[in-house]
Amino acid sequence: MSDKPSSTSASDVWRIPLSDLDYGTEEESGVLRVLKSKWLSMGQEVQDFEREFAAMLGVKHAFAVANGTAAIHLAYLALGLGEGDEIIQPPINFVASANMTLAMGAEPVFADILSLQEPTIDPAQIAARITPRTKAVVVMHYGGYLCHMAEISALCRERGIAIIEDACHAVGARYQDAQERYPHGRMAGNLSDIGTFSFFSNKNMAVGEGGMVVTERDELAERLRRFRSHGMTTLTWDRHKGHASSYDVVLNGFNYRMDEIRAALGRAQLAKLLHNNQRRMELVRLYRAGLKKITGWKAVFADYSGESACHLQVALAPDEAARTRAAQALRQAGIQTSMHYPCITTFQAFKAYAAAEVPLSLEYAHRAITLPLYPTMTPAQVQEVCAVIAASV
Ligand SMILES: *Cc1c(COP(=O)(O)O)cnc(C)c1O
Repeated sequence: MSDKPSSTSASDVWRIPLSDLDYGTEEESGVLRVLKSKWLSMGQEVQDFEREFAAMLGVKHAFAVANGTAAIHLAYLALGLGEGDEIIQPPINFVASANMTLAMGAEPVFADILSLQEPTIDPAQIAARITPRTKAVVVMHYGGYLCHMAEISALCRERGIAIIEDACHAVGARYQDAQERYPHGRMAGNLSDIGTFSFFSNKNMAVGEGGMVVTERDELAERLRRFRSHGMTTLTWDRHKGHASSYDVVLNGFNYRMDEIRAALGRAQLAKLLHNNQRRMELVRLYRAGLKKITGWKAVFADYSGESACHLQVALAPDEAARTRAAQALRQAGIQTSMHYPCITTFQAFKAYAAAEVPLSLEYAHRAITLPLYPTMTPAQVQEVCAVIAASV
């Protein structure tokens, strides 16, 4: 047996990683609590996690699931989307919502982003893509910054089109529109028919693999619950508690359940979320000021005044060559960067759906670079990242 450490964390590989976990004794004691309880799936921790998450969002129903992609799949299933249906969505997104669209036998229709400065889906581009086959619109609150929900809701409501929020970046973000239709600041994920979240390792709440799907609507909640667990009418927990002795299967579902260990981690992460989002916001202010001083560079969403979850800090380079130079300089300085995201219409598996013109998305994908951002990052580290970019121009 070797006595070398068997694992490395992000900060062992990179001096300043793209993201880093804020884990401590709360997460450790949560996991131990589950191990000592000897109940590993769909028990008290999952129920408490769902209740606490729903309370934070102010939403009626929340279901913990295996991952964010499962949450999106369940949303599509609950809405009954399928063959012949079109789902309008942004091409600057993680591929999950597009992949699940094809899994349903439905067709993804890509609508361009608002601008390079505000790379969320453009309501006017949604309007231009609506056909009699449009059954749903997926919006993605990129980086934690909210889409123009009042306009998108008005557009969809009058046509009976469902809205799904991919809120995987936006846990804890608040929405206030200019007309104050949501004067108390409704939370991201609770601004549409169904909201979906991911708790993958690099998200604002991290459990490893996990997710949540939420809704205000009782009939959708019932379908989400059943599709999560094989369409069964009762679960092991109910039978364990003596509430039921058998079950029926009322629809063809999946196993998208979350286990107790991850629910315990999720509860510990949820308790820190709003505080950590605040720390992210302070670092974002420093990034905006630092990037503004670099010729040709700008922080994406630099003029956003709402309460973002600040999941990502993305900078816009003057051109692709400048981005490449900056990425190389940062790598040499031990600073990790990434790209969120390649434009989905350029992927081989989506060639058949690339007919729609999305010029802003294509340009964005060539000029955007994601910089390190996590709650335990220091202001000096932000200044260092900006200094390395400034020296690369
Ligand atoms: C992470 C992410 C997903 C997928 O979540 P998983 O938990 O990895 O399945 C979907 N959409 C967006 C925007 C994401 O960031």
